[in-house]
Amino acid sequence: MISVRDIHKSYGQLEVIKGVSFDVTPGEVVCVIGPSGSGKSTILRCLNGLETYQKGEVRIDGQLIDPSARSIIALRQRVSMVFQRFNLFPHRTALENVMEGPVYVKGMERKAARDLAAMYLEKVGLGDKMQNFPDNLSGGQQQRVAIARALAMEPEAILFDEPTSALDPELVGDVLGVMRQVAEEGMTMVVVTHEMGFAREVADRVLFLEGGTIVEEGTAQEVLRNPKELRTQDFLHRVL
Ligand code: ADP
Ligand code: MG
Repeated sequence: MISVRDIHKSYGQLEVIKGVSFDVTPGEVVCVIGPSGSGKSTILRCLNGLETYQKGEVRIDGQLIDPSARSIIALRQRVSMVFQRFNLFPHRTALENVMEGPVYVKGMERKAARDLAAMYLEKVGLGDKMQNFPDNLSGGQQQRVAIARALAMEPEAILFDEPTSALDPELVGDVLGVMRQVAEEGMTMVVVTHEMGFAREVADRVLFLEGGTIVEEGTAQEVLRNPKELRTQDFLHRVL
């Protein structure tokens, strides 16, 4: 579904991605872990065309992605992203935030988009908060609106960049619960996270990224419980 081959990315002289390759098969959940500054966000942004790179290729369903092309807008409909900061429109209700993409990007009629948005807000447990503005929602609820917004685009894959890092600890569980449900329903997901419990229980595969390269990859069991590489072991000691 997603194929990444030998991506190299530099900012000026600084090479931050140094030849990263991996595949994500349909319905698979891949968690990306690693220290701050290791290139996790940069890799995710390369997957949906938010970032250009000097070398390598990304394919979605076999189709080569050109981050400089107009077709990138079509790509972002197929691969949605959920950010650490929820990026909701503050002057729109939860319902309007979720309707936005289907109406303005996909050209759906407002009535149909409203029904679709309501369905996805129900799904993330916010059926009773549809008319709330972001200011009147907790951080966890706002992030669930952001997940509903991603789902409403009916994408082929969703990328999550530390979706619970900005939340108060007591709100993390609800968001992870929704993500787990989305995973169980078969969505293809790439999740950058520091939630090792989530990675252990939900990930089909874990990638450990450090210094712009994949140091180790395998099942959650392999990477999180029996890491082979010293650098993975050190990282896990620091976060667990
Ligand atoms: P992570 O998400 O793992 O914390 P990032 O992908 O955000 O790491 O960053 C990887 C490296 O790239 C870091 O050294 C960071 O400082 C650098 N970097 C990220 N974005 C930019 C940018 N726009 N300009 C210059 N350097 C950047
Ligand atoms: Mg990051």
